[in-house]
Amino acid sequence: MTELVEAPEAQREGVARISHWIGGRSTAGESGRSGPVYNPATGQQTGAVDFASVEEVDAAVAAAQEAYATWRSVSLSRRAELFFRIRELLHDKSEEIAKILTREHGKVLSDAKGEVARGLEVIEFACGIPTLLKGGFSEQASTGIDVYSIRQPLGVVAGITPFNFPAMVPMWMWAPAIACGNTFVLKPSEKDPSASIYVAELLKEAGLPDGVFSVVHGDKVAVDRVLSHPDIAAISFVGSTPIARYVYETATQNGKRCQALGGAKNHMVVLPDADIEMAADAAVSAAYGSAGERCMAISQVVAVGDVGDRLVEAIKQRLPKIKVGNGMEPDVEMGPLVTREHRDKVASYIDQGREQGATVVADGRETAPEGEGFFLGVSLLDDVTPEMDAYKDEIFGPVLGVTRVDTYDEALRLVNENPYGNGTAIFTRDGGVARRFQFDVQVGMVGINVPIPVPVAYYSFGGWKSSLFGDRHIYGPEGIDFYTRGKVVTSRWPDPATSKVDLGFPQTR
Ligand code: NAD
Repeated sequence: MTELVEAPEAQREGVARISHWIGGRSTAGESGRSGPVYNPATGQQTGAVDFASVEEVDAAVAAAQEAYATWRSVSLSRRAELFFRIRELLHDKSEEIAKILTREHGKVLSDAKGEVARGLEVIEFACGIPTLLKGGFSEQASTGIDVYSIRQPLGVVAGITPFNFPAMVPMWMWAPAIACGNTFVLKPSEKDPSASIYVAELLKEAGLPDGVFSVVHGDKVAVDRVLSHPDIAAISFVGSTPIARYVYETATQNGKRCQALGGAKNHMVVLPDADIEMAADAAVSAAYGSAGERCMAISQVVAVGDVGDRLVEAIKQRLPKIKVGNGMEPDVEMGPLVTREHRDKVASYIDQGREQGATVVADGRETAPEGEGFFLGVSLLDDVTPEMDAYKDEIFGPVLGVTRVDTYDEALRLVNENPYGNGTAIFTRDGGVARRFQFDVQVGMVGINVPIPVPVAYYSFGGWKSSLFGDRHIYGPEGIDFYTRGKVVTSRWPDPATSKVDLGFPQTR
């Protein structure tokens, strides 16, 4: 968590105050607590975000509870119509949203636009809500008896999101949740909170009723109140594994439905028959895109057989071409890390790797741009073994490790023995081996010659093992399941032929 700064009143000039959004309007925090927000490319503090108190979370939940009474009754066709409007407005404003992301997160503008585009896909999926909520119907299940199923919203639901996708991950949650008829309270990352507020304004402009979507900023105080609030029915969380576990355990102990997505250590297995140029391009874009701050980033290449030398050489050749700098500049391909502390932690794996026996092929500290920005250049560690910290930890930065093994079975064992199971990829020309990998691997999302296999919006996203706590993946069909509960109606009506009620016309069979 970020350190506290002085109360908002005492902030310096040029530092914007970022307030909550409760009941359809900007609401200044009154807790006296706030956190700093930086532009990671310059290292300057640009904002101070209000941290919510228990009472402020309660106010957002009360507004959501009030709005729920009417929102759940809004017809499916009106909800769909509204989501089409939301889609159009957010699409029109995607450049503005992307600029906010680049300013506070640091990712390059083209990547930020990609984030918004992937989030919009989930909103497009939500436009199909009339079809998605269709139930089943069994006529004459027993004589004169029909049985049918419906899915109903849960009530007030909440989302707690990480810093690395400040627009898209909240969209994974609020779009299906609200389309299903719930009202939503978001607690975004305190590191880059402005995109949530801008989206809240756009949702209001599109016509979403006040109170259906609220934002409370903050730290553990706000999260803990969300986890214990009696009027919150379900919680979606995305973030690191220790916090995901804590959120899942606390929320479920409090009787809430919870899906908590955690961290990752994604392996890319490269077989000797792989197209080396394709594999090297994939490793570079998947390891260093967004400075490695993606839960689906490739962080560990597993080179099988004699492919290691060729692959490391092909990756190494590509590294000097990656331009690192301020993500607002059009030719820059990799931006800074989110905070100075995180940059220093990521950089520490280079020396640690060397000390523990890895070969440092590229040291990103030598190629980082000068200045106050939180930059680290691309780093490559070869000969990484499973005992090393660089292998065990989710580094979450632009440090790619290469582990060499002799056989496919060894590679598979490495992936399956890893405590995380978010994403993985295999690079090969052999369809039979790829199919066997897909069958055997204990990971939730698998790429075949695709390094970052994030499912399209009409499938669901989720890892296995320590990458997800709960039994429902996020967005797609499982997202609709998560945000609704089933009801089954068994009905019998008197047969008009035997009914004593005079219907005023003759009854025929
Ligand atoms: P984080 O766990 O530090 O923070 C996530 C959220 O939890 C934030 O809103 C934060 O305010 C809150 N939080 C942090 N510490 C808390 C505490 N002690 N008690 C209560 N709440 C707390 O994660 P991050 O650094 O923002 O994001 C990076 C992590 O998220 C990485 O581990 C990454 O793999 C993971 N991630 C996972 C996925 C996925 O789909 N599995 C997607 C994106 C990011």
